[in-house]
Amino acid sequence: MTDQAPKKRIAIFGSTGSIGTQALDVIRANPGMFEVEILTAQTNDELLITQAMEFRPNAVVIGDHARYEKVKSALASTDIKVFAGESALEEVADFDTYDMMLAGIVGFAGLKPTLRAVEKGRAVGLANKETLVVAGDIVMQTAIEKRAPIIPVDSEHSAIFQCLVGEVRNPIEKIILTASGGPFLGKKPNYLVNVKREHALQHPNWSMGAKISIDSATLMNKGLEMIEAKWLFNLRPDQIQVVIHPQSIIHSMVQFEDGSIKAQMGLPDMKLPIQYAMAFPARVKNDFPRFSFRRYPSLTFEEPDVKTFRNLQLATEALNMGGNMPCILNAANEIAVWAFLRNRIGFLDMTAMVEKTMQKLPFIEKPDLQQYFDSDGEARNFAASLINL
Ligand code: NAD
Ligand code: MG
Repeated sequence: MTDQAPKKRIAIFGSTGSIGTQALDVIRANPGMFEVEILTAQTNDELLITQAMEFRPNAVVIGDHARYEKVKSALASTDIKVFAGESALEEVADFDTYDMMLAGIVGFAGLKPTLRAVEKGRAVGLANKETLVVAGDIVMQTAIEKRAPIIPVDSEHSAIFQCLVGEVRNPIEKIILTASGGPFLGKKPNYLVNVKREHALQHPNWSMGAKISIDSATLMNKGLEMIEAKWLFNLRPDQIQVVIHPQSIIHSMVQFEDGSIKAQMGLPDMKLPIQYAMAFPARVKNDFPRFSFRRYPSLTFEEPDVKTFRNLQLATEALNMGGNMPCILNAANEIAVWAFLRNRIGFLDMTAMVEKTMQKLPFIEKPDLQQYFDSDGEARNFAASLINL
């Protein structure tokens, strides 16, 4: 990009999270390329205020109403607009003043504002995988109709996206999603039954928000990513394969119809896929640490243990069934992770909760958006009712 090119105006939804703060690191390092238009946070008012003072966005949203006055008065000396509450996320997503939404909210809560950006035809850098897991058909159809580019931020999907550059006419035979295996790789149920949140939050290769860290430990994250990949790359379930790769150097692969496989590699650092999505199609010079084969003399691969990590099986079932089943899986999983993080249920109970909810809720083959919201609510209620059993 030349110096004369206008700066890309970025709206960071979930700016106080792991993805959001790293997106701001990328912007801080490239002040000539990007500027911040919107910042949003749910409860971390202190960090939101600090970010707003540094990056001077047009608007900020604090999700929690009770914190509005604090944010408003802290920013009183600026002309930054301050909003509060869930509906404000959609209100600011409706603004015409940003070029790309960086969708970094965690969970189902990201769906509405992200869909709003897509409806506006805005580019979306998508970290919030739950948006596609829940309502991938509606989101992708809308993106096509409104010509809204969706650029993946999730490292595996960014890898696949990067492998597909220059391959528009070449069909994909299959994709190979790599998974680190998480902190409990190789462990069996007799071990997992006793693990606590502190164990499960220790990911070997990535430092991430609490929810995705637990999802990585249970392999639900990889299940959600299979569903995300189906929608992003228009794949059949049988074209999506998962392989365990504990070093997290190959971020994922695409196999084409001639049998050739392309892989995208690098050290595990989310700033790279975040930067790639924000600057796409440009590659921007940076000083991130470089990969060295000397430090990684062997890259290894193995089959996932789906008998132990049954979430991967449940997610595959949801992927195969389609309809509202991925939405049900996701909602039950959000409740399960919430309960595990509060020491209300055990590690293996999370899978049981998801399985029971999938068995209980009525299947809808072609839900509309309201039916997705209803399924989400019903699945949450049912899953929550299992907590004290
Ligand atoms: P995080 O918990 O660190 O941050 C979440 C952000 O969302 C925070 O800014 C928080 O204020 C906001 N938020 C939380 N609940 C909200 C709600 N109900 N309404 C509005 N805002 C809310 O999460 P994260 O690790 O940054 O992950 C964000 C998303 O990116 C997730 O969907 C995750 O799966 C995906 N992702 C993350 C990583 C990673 O390395 N962290 C990698 C790939 C994909
Ligand atoms: Mg990922």
